[in-house]
Amino acid sequence: MDSVFMNTYHRLPVTFARGEGSWLYDINGKKYLDFGSGIAVNLLGHNYPPLVRAVTEQAAKYFHVCNYYQSDTSIAFAEKLVEACAPAGMRNVFLANSGAEANEGAVKLARKYSLLKYGPGRHTIVTLKGSFHGRTITTLAATGQEKFHKDFGPFTDGFVHIPGGDIELLDKALDGLTVAGLLIEAVQGEGGIVIQNSEFISAAAKLCAERDILLMFDEIQCGLGRTGTFLALEQYKGSDGNPLKADIVTLAKGLAGGIPVGAVLAGSKTCSIFTTGDHGSTFGANPIAAAAGLVILKTVNNPEFLAEIIRKGNIITDALKQNPKVREVRGKGLIIGFDIEDSSWLMLKAGIVRADLAKNHCGLLMLSAGTNTLRLLPPYIIQDSEIDHGLEIMTELLNAG
Ligand SMILES: *Cc1c(COP(=O)(O)O)cnc(C)c1O
Repeated sequence: MDSVFMNTYHRLPVTFARGEGSWLYDINGKKYLDFGSGIAVNLLGHNYPPLVRAVTEQAAKYFHVCNYYQSDTSIAFAEKLVEACAPAGMRNVFLANSGAEANEGAVKLARKYSLLKYGPGRHTIVTLKGSFHGRTITTLAATGQEKFHKDFGPFTDGFVHIPGGDIELLDKALDGLTVAGLLIEAVQGEGGIVIQNSEFISAAAKLCAERDILLMFDEIQCGLGRTGTFLALEQYKGSDGNPLKADIVTLAKGLAGGIPVGAVLAGSKTCSIFTTGDHGSTFGANPIAAAAGLVILKTVNNPEFLAEIIRKGNIITDALKQNPKVREVRGKGLIIGFDIEDSSWLMLKAGIVRADLAKNHCGLLMLSAGTNTLRLLPPYIIQDSEIDHGLEIMTELLNAG
């Protein structure tokens, strides 16, 4: 079945034909509860009526105009996006198509900032061990996980990985003479749901500010309401005790709820660095993605909606903590990881979609991350009864292991 594709994924033998809310249906009509949202993409689930409407209405107007012109829909989206990220210090945005592309743009932006101000040689980007920043040669160089690096060198120069949480090492690594930026996922997704602690982030903010090193957040997986605030970085404080401000923020994945889009947001230091011709992307600011993105922003960037994400996340986290088979639970809002005994792990992995046990009449879609972490990223519109249903299936699977 997979022969038409290059063999880059371990695809499970399930072929989807349609989706509705938190559910996906395969070509045989079997249903699956979606606890993964296509890796934090389908924030509002499947077939969400306002999203479908926005996309079809835009498609009937125009699909694309190149970036030599303006698009009313793209402008509206960019305005709303910058507004949503203004509390984190963001002033303007470059729109791209994916997370890797957004991070590439962020690296270019940081390097040019440093070059203009300090001249050549100060171009290093420090990132954290366990991080994931994308699959291009440069974003792989940024990614702090060896397993993604093998076979593909040489990589782009100028990346250093340090362990998260170690302020002393951070202080040494943030050398004001060679380092342009520090790139952090406040909550590492692919790395196994690893939450950076507040002391570390505050220290990072302080050191970056003192040395004029750009503080950059990759919010591609943990942003967009996933942790219960629009950006995950909003839950941290700067060293002065005030809300944390970033210099660059990247977004992608769920930003248009399932249409490809990526964004590089820039704060006051970086918003005027790129000039005409410095950067570009044919499909960047695509109007269909923008139309979808507007619906995402209007729906998600709302205090009551965000409070629901926290409430729903707590239900799942509390239930997992009660389960004796679960070793450790890490989560914030609806980004949740839990570690399990090795034997249960194998059982669960095998059961990720085969959970159509007679009793439940449905499967459960979960994700893995890191080395032995199960990762849950349910759609924000998931209902309490669906959460309970999913937790029941999970308990059954864990007990079977
Ligand atoms: C998924 C992801 C990326 C890469 O995004 P793509 O759209 O796959 O290129 C980068 N950073 C983080 C934190 C991610 O989760």
